[in-house]
Amino acid sequence: MHRMTARHPALLLSAALLAAPAWAQAPADEFATCLNTLRAPARAVGVSDASFTQYTQGLVPDMSVIDKLNYQPEFRTAIWDYLAGLVDDQRVAEGKAMLALHADVLARVNERYGVDPATVVAVWGVESNFGQTFGKSPLVQSLGTLSCFGRRQAYFRTEFYATLRILQAGHITADRLVGSWAGAFGHTQFMPSTFERLAVDFDGDGRADLMDSTPDALASTANFLAKAGWQNGQPWGFEVKLPSGFNTSGEGRRTKRTMADWAERGLRLVDSSPLPGSGNGSAGLLTPAGPQGPAFLVLRNFDAIYSYNAAESYGLAIAHLADRLRGGGRFVTPWPTDDPGLSRAERREVQTLLIARGHDIGEVDGMLGDKSRVAIRAEQERLGQEVNGRAGQKLLKTLRGS
Ligand code: CA
Repeated sequence: MHRMTARHPALLLSAALLAAPAWAQAPADEFATCLNTLRAPARAVGVSDASFTQYTQGLVPDMSVIDKLNYQPEFRTAIWDYLAGLVDDQRVAEGKAMLALHADVLARVNERYGVDPATVVAVWGVESNFGQTFGKSPLVQSLGTLSCFGRRQAYFRTEFYATLRILQAGHITADRLVGSWAGAFGHTQFMPSTFERLAVDFDGDGRADLMDSTPDALASTANFLAKAGWQNGQPWGFEVKLPSGFNTSGEGRRTKRTMADWAERGLRLVDSSPLPGSGNGSAGLLTPAGPQGPAFLVLRNFDAIYSYNAAESYGLAIAHLADRLRGGGRFVTPWPTDDPGLSRAERREVQTLLIARGHDIGEVDGMLGDKSRVAIRAEQERLGQEVNGRAGQKLLKTLRGS
């Protein structure tokens, strides 16, 4: 049996007792058989037999992607922690440097696709840390494995065939085509099917290369947002101030009201000035941490960002980073917590301090994963703090001083 069944405690035990070799061979045979059955459907969607053979010959499954598919984090990240890591001073500084470095390309991208440089660079910064973090899984292997094992095989097969077509078309070479375990790759972290719909060749070499061409990547991001309805010159939205006792139930990104309607309900900009006029269209109200935290009216450009990655927290990260890149400040209303989140530099410091206390947390990478959380819980217990596995400013200060 393959490892996805090991989530059941009884199976986990038996798998451990039987030890890996007894079943480790099975997936390879099963995989080869499965791949053979994909050859004809791949041919039907434009993957030649020669290409299929070339890119899948000798392919072995990577069962670790099935573990990742089945992984369900127990830890729910608060919005202020999510944003503190994605929109930190380091990312703002690097984003500004990228705006300057690629000013010429970004100006031409803006002219062609009608998406402003700060927004494009903000997406780039969050998706791949400005081209520094692509993921390490070879796409043919990870998507091939996901096509044959685990949940959602139909979805992953579509992406697998798209991957083979991308290689067949010569956009990117197989050895360069690596990405996240689930198949998002390159500067823009497009899925292969998204690549086929929206990637563009902007540097004119005849290939849309989202791994090694920054102009192609920036233009492809802009093309995505343009097709998603981006309206250049309009804001994504803005932070607002709610009248006291305002009832936010039923409000949200999709519940659009006119600006006049919002003004009538007593909303103002966060600096207490009146809301802008109706020229920007209708807006929905976001209160990601409840009515006591920051509140935002979001316009259709926010929806365009949302379509890039369907999470409102993601949309807010891109929107806020873009504002910061334009010289804007932090949100005015504080998050409803007395223990604010950590930047990536502070997360690395927490990890370093945990290692110094003898914890095995793996690599110091600024990502507080399961190993870090186990260590954080142990320290919280030792320090008499609430044991929740979360690192905020309070824990950092305590660790620094202890
Ligand atoms: Ca190109």
